[in-house]
Amino acid sequence: MSASPIEAIKAKIDIAEEIGQVVRLQKSGKALKGLCPFHNERTPSFYVFPEAQTFRCFGCNEGGDVFSFVQKQQGLEFRDTLHYLAEKAGVTVEDTPGRDPEEERERSALKERLRKLNEDALLWFHQALLRSKEASEARAYVQSRGISSESVLAFSLGYAPESWDGLSRYLLTQGYTERELVQGGLAREREGAIATEGGNGIYDYFRNRLIFPIRDTRGRVIGFGGRALGDGKPKYLNSPQTPLFEKNTVLYAIDMARDAIKQAGQVVIVEGYVDAVIAHQYGTRQTVACIGSAITEKHIQQLKKLTKQVTLALDPDAAGSAATEHGIQEALKGFDKTVVAVPLAGNATTQRRSKNGPASRGMIMLEEQVDAEINVLQLPLGEDPDEVIRRDFSLWLYAVSHPLPLIDYYFVVKTEDLNLREPHGKTEAAKRLLPVIGMMSDRIKRDAYMRKLATMISIDERTLYEELQRVLRNQKTQGVTAAFVDSKTQKQARVGTQETREPTWLNDGKEGNDGGRGGKGEESYTQSTTVTNSTVPYVSIDKSKADKLQWEDYLIGLLLQNPGLSPYVCGIIHDGDFAGTDTRELYHILNVLYQRGSSPSYQSLEQFVPVELHSAVARVQQSVESRSPLDGVGQVKAAVQCATRLKRTRLVQLNTELQYLLQAVDSGDRAGIQQLQQRLIEVHQQLRTIDSATHLQG
Ligand SMILES: [Zn+2]
Repeated sequence: MSASPIEAIKAKIDIAEEIGQVVRLQKSGKALKGLCPFHNERTPSFYVFPEAQTFRCFGCNEGGDVFSFVQKQQGLEFRDTLHYLAEKAGVTVEDTPGRDPEEERERSALKERLRKLNEDALLWFHQALLRSKEASEARAYVQSRGISSESVLAFSLGYAPESWDGLSRYLLTQGYTERELVQGGLAREREGAIATEGGNGIYDYFRNRLIFPIRDTRGRVIGFGGRALGDGKPKYLNSPQTPLFEKNTVLYAIDMARDAIKQAGQVVIVEGYVDAVIAHQYGTRQTVACIGSAITEKHIQQLKKLTKQVTLALDPDAAGSAATEHGIQEALKGFDKTVVAVPLAGNATTQRRSKNGPASRGMIMLEEQVDAEINVLQLPLGEDPDEVIRRDFSLWLYAVSHPLPLIDYYFVVKTEDLNLREPHGKTEAAKRLLPVIGMMSDRIKRDAYMRKLATMISIDERTLYEELQRVLRNQKTQGVTAAFVDSKTQKQARVGTQETREPTWLNDGKEGNDGGRGGKGEESYTQSTTVTNSTVPYVSIDKSKADKLQWEDYLIGLLLQNPGLSPYVCGIIHDGDFAGTDTRELYHILNVLYQRGSSPSYQSLEQFVPVELHSAVARVQQSVESRSPLDGVGQVKAAVQCATRLKRTRLVQLNTELQYLLQAVDSGDRAGIQQLQQRLIEVHQQLRTIDSATHLQG
């Protein structure tokens, strides 16, 4: 096998050029700077380093290579990023090694053909709505729902006439085959007419319906939704499953909402096509519709790249229903649980932690938090979003900007049917709400809600806390919430408390090499923050890349071998600390899997790792197999030291970048200098924390 496609792409695509397409960059020494596309700012703190082919924002801390940039900026999955960049670079990515390449070519040719088919169908539907006589009822319906003609054009709304084969006949004249029409979900086969050549074996899938074309994030038509005009059943009909249209993942209007979601820092999820169209029409363009009613984890997977604030516009009549509850649980599942490292360095944090939390002997404590904010839109009872928007837009706008936090929502719906003055009502309220409160990882917030509940049912707070402990203990052994809480308590592990010394781990020659580098880093980071001469060589930013990558391979290899090592590692490093594109993505996948509670074995991993990364998996496995095997304790030690090493390397690199930028920055730019110096101080603090933890590890 030749060099990895990732490396080939990186060699052909210049990060400065790629970023330059969306960010206006200006020279700043050998770096380029501009306004960060990931957070709001007036003065640039976003830098591109063309020599290292990396970028970093010192305002919001985003950083990485061209893959990280595209992935984040366009809100794509890793795989889509790979294919997007490969196409740009003219690099071929085998997306299914092992499969028959001939078969593979056919599959992608079919997809391409179906995309074209959809485009042609869309035009036909759209023209029918705009011009055909038969569409008058459809046009009247559009008007009655308050959809403007601009929206009709923007969303390419269409009309499928009553006739049995209007669309099919048209598409057949355009050179498509009956088989393609059926495969594309635009026609059905007539019974008993299967595969007869010569036509008339099929009829239109959508008839007498208002058509809503459904596009993917990149704006390509993947399917259609049809609302019945008249008494047609079902009221809403969506495309069947096709090679392009995967049910349960589709978000209507995601293509038009994408930028607005990023800008607003929020996504509003509604249930109907018309709700979404009207929300966009009035200006709340961060709105998408969930097709097919229930929210699934796959929906959230797409959205979480764009924002962490999800606002659910739930059907008010169904509030508190099992379906709603299910949707919320799905939404929670879809978000990563980030394990946040809380340093315990004798400050206010320590006091707060040690009061309620476990003893703080180590350097770092890990605490898990769901990396999302889910809240609920409060609408007047019995009104759909589109009705509210049209009746009183300011009311809608207020609701969108002041959604109810999920926990407050639960406080309302879970106690609606209870009499809180009676003992039974009080007990029941506590029984229903304590598990929800127990899910909160933020202790300060948790305490606040404990107080709220205590007041609400007028019960002593201490008694309630005892009850909470009991609930949490019981949950460990049962139910959905249980998994959540369980993994949390388990992950409050501490790192850096090992006291035995074992300096000779992995002493295989690379140690000395790395040691030299580490020493150099030490030297430069303890320098004063105001470097006056130009002794910091720019090239050193990426000096030790190959070496670094070997450690990354080894660490990922260890995690693959033993997923149970995850909690020891994830408090030290995160995705962004990896310099390798494939190791970064593998780490991300492993972390998500581990936190979801599924431990990937060699066999099952294949289904979670995109085929494009299978060769990387082989490589990291090789990296572990080529060394002498370790026992459990040895593995933990090796993983922690690898992670610490990676983190340290990353911090030293940051230090070098910052020192360099401080030299290059215009001396009149006070704010800029101040920001860089502030970051430099933080980096030094982190380095000290890491080094004292390393010292403890021996
Ligand atoms: Zn930023």
